[in-house]
This record gives sequence, C-alpha cells and structure tokens, in this order.
Amino acid sequence: MKALQYTAVGEEPQVVEVPTPEPGPGEVRVRVTAAGACHSDSFVMGLDAEQYKLFGYPLPMTLGHEGAGVVDKLGAGAAGFDVGDAVAIYGPQGCGQCYQCAQGKENYCPKAAALGIVPPGLGRDGTMAEYVTVPSPRHLVPLEGLDPVANVALTDAGLTPYHAIKGSLPKLVPGSSAVVIGAGGLGHVAIQLLRALSPATVIALDIAQPKLDLAKDVGAHHAFLSDDSAADAVRAVVGAGGATAVFDFVAFQPTIDLAQAVTGPEGDVVLVGVGGGQARVGVLAAPYDSTIRAPYWGSRSELFEVLDLARAGTIHVETETFSLDDAPEAYRRLHDGTLRGRAVIVP
Ligand code: NAD
Ligand code: ZN
Repeated sequence: MKALQYTAVGEEPQVVEVPTPEPGPGEVRVRVTAAGACHSDSFVMGLDAEQYKLFGYPLPMTLGHEGAGVVDKLGAGAAGFDVGDAVAIYGPQGCGQCYQCAQGKENYCPKAAALGIVPPGLGRDGTMAEYVTVPSPRHLVPLEGLDPVANVALTDAGLTPYHAIKGSLPKLVPGSSAVVIGAGGLGHVAIQLLRALSPATVIALDIAQPKLDLAKDVGAHHAFLSDDSAADAVRAVVGAGGATAVFDFVAFQPTIDLAQAVTGPEGDVVLVGVGGGQARVGVLAAPYDSTIRAPYWGSRSELFEVLDLARAGTIHVETETFSLDDAPEAYRRLHDGTLRGRAVIVP
C-alpha cells in the first residue's frame, strides 16, 4: 500500500510503498478515507537530530494522527464493529486499565509512556496511508453519517480545542471575553466552539490577514494582527478587567507574554501550541489568581461530544484536500502558513 512516511531526520516526508498491515489479536485494520495534517507533525519534522532523540520515534514512520475510515478487518478477538462501519479514530492511547483510562482520558494515561503505548503517527505508523491498524476497537468512534473528509480533523483540531475550552467554560459567563491566538487548524475550530458553548466575546489574533479573515468568517467578534499593537487592541475591547481566558495555539515566548499581558485577574492562560515558551507564575509575575494550563488532546467521551456538535451543524472544519501523492505539498503549505483551516489527505 501507499503511505506518507517521515524517513530520516531533516528530510521531507515521502510517499512510499509499504506492506499492508495485518491486524494482530484484538486489533482492527481501518481502510483510511481521510487523514488530517497537524502542525504537531511539522513540529516533529522540524526537530534536529539531538531534539528528535528525546522523542525516540522510530523511523521510517507513517505520519498522521488524525484519521477516519472504514473498518476493513478485525483481528482475532476484536469485536464491537463490523467490516464496512465508518469510523473516526480516537488518537490518544493509554493502557485502558488505569483510573484516567477508565474515564476515557487516555490522553492522560500515566502508564502509556512506560508501556511504550504511542498514538498513530506519533511513535508508530499513522493514518496517512491506505490502511492503518488500531490496537483496540476502543479507539474507534462511529461516524454515524458524518462525512469523513469534512470531519476527520475533529479528532484533533476539534477535540484538542474542545478539551482546552471546556476547562474554562465556568468562567466564560455573560460579559466575559476569550482570546484565540493562532487562527489555523485548531484555532478556527476553537473560535466556533467558543461561540457555540459560551456567550464570551471572541477575539482572534494571527500574523496573516487571510487567517484573520477566516477567524471573522467562522464567528470571531474581533480579529487583530498579532504584532506589537495586539495587546492594546485586545485591551481596547476587553477593558481594564482584562481577558477572561486566552487560548494560545502558538505558545512561543512572545505569544505567551502577550497572553499573560492581556489576561485579567482570575483569568485562564491556556497553552495549547508546542511553541516551547514558558509562562511566568508568582505574585506580580502573572495576573492575580490566574490559572495556567497546558492541556493535551482530549478524552474519548469528548470526541463523541465534538462529533455531535458537527452532526448538529454547530461546528465545521474548513478543509483543503490533497491526494496521498500530494501529501508532501500539504505539509509544505502547512509550514508556510498558507492553508485555510486544515489540510486533509484523501488516500
Ligand atoms: P496551524 O499551522 O494550522 O495554525 C497555527 C496558526 O498560528 C497559523 O494560522 C499561524 O498563522 C498562526 N501564528 C503563527 N505565529 C503566530 C503569532 N506569533 N501570533 C499569532 N498567530 C500566529 O497549526 P495547528 O495544527 O492548528 O496547531 C497549532 C499548535 O497546536 C501547534 O503548535 C501544534 O503543534 C499544537 N497542537 C497541540 C496539541 C495539544 O494537544 N496540546 C494538539 C494539536 C496541536
Ligand atoms: Zn495534532
């Protein structure tokens, strides 16, 4: 079968021919109908050899941690789905046995790392291929009528902001405000989620005008360039009280500093991007009684909730589609910041 693989540190990903995987005991093989391209893949491919060692992902590795498809073959003992069922793949994977996993929070399984359990495309072969195997039917969520291409990105670009925003919802009361830094794949869904789930005034910041246009198109009340004037622009909207919550989908030092500069007392600074910056804590170093969170992906039940929002027509993903052969171009466009929404590979 064809697969898009990261073959060597520093190389562009390549379309290669690899054996079609056989599902082992308990596993399920999925024929991939859609796979989303996330900036986290770009992040991984941007690491130098020393940094890459810290992650220890074996190479070559098929990329892709957002996936949807059709159940193709059940390994021995795997049950609960029939061949032909249309499914989304829940990417975070835990041991399935611990307290966090019992709650569906496989994204926070404390045992996964020690057990060598890793998500598709982030340690083992991912979804940018004609077929992918998942370790358990537990990682499949029925699409129930949702178009795989239009909705595959919800498995990460929807689930991650949903989980991030849910943690701040009790504060996003009438009169509150939410700032979204980075209106890309995750950010443009975050804007819709904020509009759907809260009465907050939503302010988007990005460095590119087309992204600001997208932000307005999907519901941001205000959209400003993320430059030296951004803090004043935000303060002019939110007033002296500061922003209630800032969701930073970039999270390198300048955006974290910006987030902390505009957040009000008791506000939330939510760092989702893997930009590598660090937030300050301490009296006078951060807004009084503010909370800093750095959430990772989301829970299984939250993926059900996100898909339900899409089924209700409340959220959607702006997608640009690419064939598997053109997948390297999708990552080039992602790297250059010229995509509108999410790049989706259709094998
Ligand atoms: P993306 O490239 O689609 O979007 C990033 C957006 O940020 C772009 O619109 C870009 O123009 C904008 N941007 C860049 N620099 C900026 C700045 N200084 N100020 C404001 N905007 C700026 O990326 P994505 O796939 O949406 O991912 C966003 C981030 O989230 C990445 O760092 C990714 O690795 C991370 N991520 C984290 C998790 C998690 O679980 N924590 C999950 C998925 C992705
Ligand atoms: Zn991702």
